[in-house]
Amino acid sequence: MPAGPAPQRELFPGRPDWEEDDRRQGMVATVVLPAGVDKPLDYLVPPELAARVEPGRRVQVPLGRGNRLRLAYCVAVRRGELPPQPLKAVVDVEDDKPLLSPRMLELTAWMADRWLARRGEVLEAVLPAGVRLRRRIRRVPVFVATGAEPGRRPTAGQRAVLAAAATPKPLDELLRQSGANRGVVSRLLKAGLLTEQGSVEREPEPEPPGPAPAAVELPTLSPPQERALAAILDPLRGGRHETLVLFGVTGSGKTEVYLRAVAETLAHGKQAIVLVPEISLTPQTCERFRNRFGRVAVLHSHLTPAERHAHWREIAAGRVSVIVGARSAIFAPAPRLGLIVIDEEHEHSFKQATAPRYHARDVAEWIAQREGVPLVLGSATPALETFSRCLTGGWQMCRLPERVGGSQLPAVLTVDLRDPKARAKGAISPRLAAGIDWAINAGGQVMLLLNRRGFATHVQCRSCGHAIHCPQCDLGLTLHQPGSRGICHGCGLVNRLPATCPECGTADLVPRGTGTQRLEDQVRARFRGLRVARMDADTTRSRGSHDRTLSAFRRREIDLLVGTQMIAKGLDFPDVMLVGVINADAALHLADFRAAERTCQLVTQVAGRSGRGPRGGRVVVQTSTPEHPAIRAAVVHDYEAFIRSELPIRETLLYPPFGSVIRLVVRSLDDQAAADWGKHLVDQLRKAAGGEPAIRILGPAPAPISRIRDRFRWHLQVHGPDGEQLRNLVRRGTSGLKTPEKVAWIVDVDPVEML
Ligand code: ADP
Ligand code: ZN
Repeated sequence: MPAGPAPQRELFPGRPDWEEDDRRQGMVATVVLPAGVDKPLDYLVPPELAARVEPGRRVQVPLGRGNRLRLAYCVAVRRGELPPQPLKAVVDVEDDKPLLSPRMLELTAWMADRWLARRGEVLEAVLPAGVRLRRRIRRVPVFVATGAEPGRRPTAGQRAVLAAAATPKPLDELLRQSGANRGVVSRLLKAGLLTEQGSVEREPEPEPPGPAPAAVELPTLSPPQERALAAILDPLRGGRHETLVLFGVTGSGKTEVYLRAVAETLAHGKQAIVLVPEISLTPQTCERFRNRFGRVAVLHSHLTPAERHAHWREIAAGRVSVIVGARSAIFAPAPRLGLIVIDEEHEHSFKQATAPRYHARDVAEWIAQREGVPLVLGSATPALETFSRCLTGGWQMCRLPERVGGSQLPAVLTVDLRDPKARAKGAISPRLAAGIDWAINAGGQVMLLLNRRGFATHVQCRSCGHAIHCPQCDLGLTLHQPGSRGICHGCGLVNRLPATCPECGTADLVPRGTGTQRLEDQVRARFRGLRVARMDADTTRSRGSHDRTLSAFRRREIDLLVGTQMIAKGLDFPDVMLVGVINADAALHLADFRAAERTCQLVTQVAGRSGRGPRGGRVVVQTSTPEHPAIRAAVVHDYEAFIRSELPIRETLLYPPFGSVIRLVVRSLDDQAAADWGKHLVDQLRKAAGGEPAIRILGPAPAPISRIRDRFRWHLQVHGPDGEQLRNLVRRGTSGLKTPEKVAWIVDVDPVEML
């Protein structure tokens, strides 16, 4: 019997027939499939499942003509009159409790709308895989002592195991309690002194809690730190939402402000989420949170699904109050959320590169508004979007213009690479070499940034000029040593390099351009006796290797560290007295309207690693365009000067923050098919725009990387002053399109990657 038949009957007087009534009245669940069907679907809930079907749980539903069972998310239920057309019924309920709160369900609907994503994809994205797979709980056997008489005198180890097994225990607990090894247990089993007695469910253990926080003496906050903290605590105490931007130079004590704000959040019995760019890149930040608060859930990309699930449960139960993690940690199911912090908020890794292509900053704002909690965005180089929200959008900016603890921002010298005198045989100009000598002689350490990994950036024929390309991508191969392998940085394909030029047959192929491997070689050759290490994606593939290198650098076992942008972020090494930027313009000329912004951010960030200690420091920036505003601003530590020069350019072109961009990328094995579909999309969008003058539709054109893994890529862009209007336009223009079989295409709202 459906719940509450009596009142429903009263709604329909004159219909005494129970059976008739049952058919018309009932419970309907709206479900969303993770993939395949985009539209929400309605299913009848049979009375025996009524108590268990609720929004946020998953259900088994029959789909299509074959009625194949599919797992779907229940997003809404309603009771009342059934629709006239017959409905299929829910077959089973998967979860014992909702995986998603009503708030999270609402968030997924908003995200689907905000980034033109499928609701099913969003639902999958906000739940860690380990949570979705929770039915697969491991069972482990349990052992118990049989009480049989031992034939021989048991050893001390055996006695310890038997004592521990007086009550049934799984193997790992037996070993832990007795201190014995597995061999002892198996001998006892063989001797019949120990026996297996059933099994228990073993949920994965959360990471053991860190040591109790050491009683550290906290530094006295500087006046700007005090002001920033007060600006956060005000809404925090008042239970209000507000967005605060901590615009503070590197080393100005932003992290210390986050730590104090988190401490206050905990004092209120609340939880805090702290997002950092990619956790493996910021071990120091995690360390500081662990040291201050002890029990911290660190959600990094190397966690197994089971570990992730364990954290998720601890957070949901309110047993962990500090959550530090990368982008997706914003979905941590904190029931008592009190604060959200995003460190290095300008980082592009906060935008997901695959569907759903959400930005964690916007998600954080939505959550913080709903929960009525402060959102803190910190950076030495805030995104232009963030900056302009402070100018016009009601966000509050707190400036921390000076380094704490008396250290000065380093002096920055530029080396003009166009000047023949500046050039050297390798990548290190005489001036940079002199800087390295200066720092080392003064007892300091050195960091060299080169944002290209590998040995040589390409391999070229000296006779005809042809550069060796990846066979399946529109990208030159990067030479990696040892082994002279040509690796494609687009698809990862490893190639043996040809002995002769595939174009002209000449056997005169030479490595061109410098990557971090070659730079490391040059440093070793030029500065004999220096202890040199390299840190890039190639040297940090294994878990922990990144930490090991940084720890060795901190212990001063390394004098000079060569690295990609990995070394630019969030690191605080007081003995670094020189930072060298090998080629500041490397990213300046990419086909991306944010190229200048990115360059200024990267150079500013890496320069900020220098001179954090009492002895100060220097920075040498090698560039072919020292007059470029992005470089000039970084050199004089005036990021705001760059903002002032860049904003008018963006305004003229209607680029963010003055307008919105939606990018569509079409892929196909068939170049023509991709181009044709791109053209068709442009036509559809033009029609939908109906000649609206403020809207610009560009393309289709081959994407800057026009082929990856044999797929040709074409892209188009839609620009307009208003994001909502633009999304509606794309929705209208692309709804109901029948995509040709050969073609795949994606929509990226507010793209950060334009290649
Ligand atoms: P940011 O996050 O802005 O780079 P940090 O918070 O990491 O800055 O601070 C840089 C260094 O200064 C850290 O070692 C930190 O412990 C220390 N520090 C922070 N605030 C103070 C302060 N008020 N007085 C002295 N040292 C401080
Ligand atoms: Zn490739």
